[in-house]
Amino acid sequence: TLRRFATVVENQLEMMRGSGRRVGHAPVSRIADALDRREIVPWFQPIVDLESGRIIALETLARWEGTDGSVQGPAAFMPAIVDSDLIIDVDHSVLQQAVELLPMWQKKIPGLMLNSNLSARHLGRQDRLDQLSCIVGSSGVAPESVVFELTETEAHTDMEHIGDFVDALRRGGFSVLLDDIGIGWSSLERLLHLPVDGFKIDTAIAAKLGTRTGDSMIRALAGLAADTGQKLIIEGIETPVQSRRAQELGCARAQGYFWSRPVPADRVSDMLNMHELGFLSA
Ligand code: C2E
Ligand code: MG
Ligand code: MG
Ligand code: MG
Repeated sequence: TLRRFATVVENQLEMMRGSGRRVGHAPVSRIADALDRREIVPWFQPIVDLESGRIIALETLARWEGTDGSVQGPAAFMPAIVDSDLIIDVDHSVLQQAVELLPMWQKKIPGLMLNSNLSARHLGRQDRLDQLSCIVGSSGVAPESVVFELTETEAHTDMEHIGDFVDALRRGGFSVLLDDIGIGWSSLERLLHLPVDGFKIDTAIAAKLGTRTGDSMIRALAGLAADTGQKLIIEGIETPVQSRRAQELGCARAQGYFWSRPVPADRVSDMLNMHELGFLSA
């Protein structure tokens, strides 16, 4: 209970640091420097199977660790670079650092997957595809262990290109999920048209669990996933009540502060241990 309490306190601190909301956007040149100095690093948040309670994957979430000990979330540096190729470099760097670490954690949890966020800027280009395969390939991690989460796809109107890219990723052995489903109709339309393995229900929808509209939306999305044979992960689960309700509504996998906030690489092993001991589950 004490360790659980310590985790809660640390989680609160991470929330205060990690959101990055208290600072303005850093200029692009500073972000490029930070990247060169390897100050932009992956933090990791577990994805759990609700039925067994086991951790099945870790999502990589980029953090900027300043030399002064500060930690900032994507909100502090992503908006400035989403429209430049710098975001490609960030994605590559985060992915590379993460696949180098994964084998160590797979020794503890065989079959543990890595979910990595991919900006829409990668889409539709063969060289981008080769770069991703190369990064994963040279780490020795099997592509079957890697799931790409596609974000901000609404920025791309060319569905055919995205579809081809998704196909090619899957032919390469990777899995592909559509991130942030539920906020905006365009994402739902994309979901119906893209050959993805599954999707993630956005945090904003999970926050509505327990309300009539929230529950019926999640039930409908779970039904959609079941009908199409797609995988579904619900994000943003913060309480045991939400976790139970999500499961009742048909969600098999979930992620959220209830199990753990994103943690730095050097805390992942402890997090996995605590989860196994039952400290981080209901
Ligand atoms: P996302 O991929 O949808 O990631 C989920 C976000 O929800 C993360 O915010 C995570 O910290 C937060 N979250 C997780 N559980 C809970 C919860 O229980 N409650 C609440 N309120 N929030 C929760 P974060 O880390 O600030 O990342 C924000 C977004 O930045 C990500 O959303 C993703 O779109 C983007 N991002 C993060 N890392 C990368 C990256 O390496 N590359 C790219 N292209 N995008 C990234
Ligand atoms: Mg994501
Ligand atoms: Mg999301
Ligand atoms: Mg999001």
